[in-house]
Amino acid sequence: MPARPAAVQAAAGLSCKSQIKELEEEMMNKTIREIVDKALGGGEIGAAELRALFAVDYLSEESYLIQYASRKMSDGACKGKAEVHAQVGLNSGSCPRDCQFCSFAAMNKIFTSSKVRPLEEIIESCLNFEAGGANAIYLMATATYKFADFLKVGREVKQALKTAVPLIANVGDFDEDEARALKKSGFDGIYHAVRLGEGVITKIDPRKRLQTIDLAAKAGLKVGTCLEPVGPEHTLEELVEKTLITRDMKPAYSGAGRRVNIPGSPLAAHGSLSYAQMAPILAAVRLAVGYDVVGNCTHEPNKIGAMAGASLLWAEVGSNPRDTSESTVRGWTVKNTQEVLTEAGWEVLEGPSVMFGASA
Ligand code: SF4
Repeated sequence: MPARPAAVQAAAGLSCKSQIKELEEEMMNKTIREIVDKALGGGEIGAAELRALFAVDYLSEESYLIQYASRKMSDGACKGKAEVHAQVGLNSGSCPRDCQFCSFAAMNKIFTSSKVRPLEEIIESCLNFEAGGANAIYLMATATYKFADFLKVGREVKQALKTAVPLIANVGDFDEDEARALKKSGFDGIYHAVRLGEGVITKIDPRKRLQTIDLAAKAGLKVGTCLEPVGPEHTLEELVEKTLITRDMKPAYSGAGRRVNIPGSPLAAHGSLSYAQMAPILAAVRLAVGYDVVGNCTHEPNKIGAMAGASLLWAEVGSNPRDTSESTVRGWTVKNTQEVLTEAGWEVLEGPSVMFGASA
């Protein structure tokens, strides 16, 4: 709780406690309004200001103010055109990196045998996504998938695609040569994040994640990222720290996604956040990263998030770290993801992703 503003202290002579409370609330509101106005005016908000945004009650007046401002900033940043990116999962199996939130983590014992999708099926899924209007196509593999195989699939998919839709890699950490090889194989960018709890609930050093992001940028790959996977257990300090990391990355997009609990995972005991609780969080991230970051993502596709400024939603097929089935059963197609956006009042971009560098 911040110190009482001077004007409130001066009013302490008032005998009526409710009057003091009212005045105090007014000053607090003003503070949130000031932070929001600073961000909307193009100013960079600091860690303490971002912490104050994350601290608001999700059903409060300030929460709606933050969400309104986020939507306005998102609208300006992407010129009113939201996007749908589509991901194809290439394999499933047990992964020794043991990220506790992931269904592939060995410790979660969901996938005990390895499966790899046939190339023809992968290409078919990518072409379906492209024909359906996806603005970018992602290939996702677990950290155990052979890198050389991933490059090969990437080359084949790139060759098969009929438009300039960007091809994005969602893979484990890689070195400098591998970063260059991704670029050479036809990838335009990567998705990568320093996840909440990285190094504590994962077996990956956060510095390794940052190094991969740096190498990707040096190889000419654009990077999309996100504050994820957010759960009720995360402190305001960690939300701030990880959000500011996304801003420093100068990404194609940032945003916030909630943790989907994997049955049996130790994290399931924390419960999960509702879309209503996630809305001011993704909105605060939007305000923190500023207009230069074109996109603001969330998952799963939901209208509350889209209303609050999420301008990037996901369609997915194949294996997925938030799903316990080999082929995701959550069922978001490009079409119904676009509908979520239009229901929330967005226009949807046609053609290659502006977030990944195509001109509007
Ligand atoms: S998130 Fe990636 S690295 Fe971590 S357990 Fe899942 S597949 Fe492995």
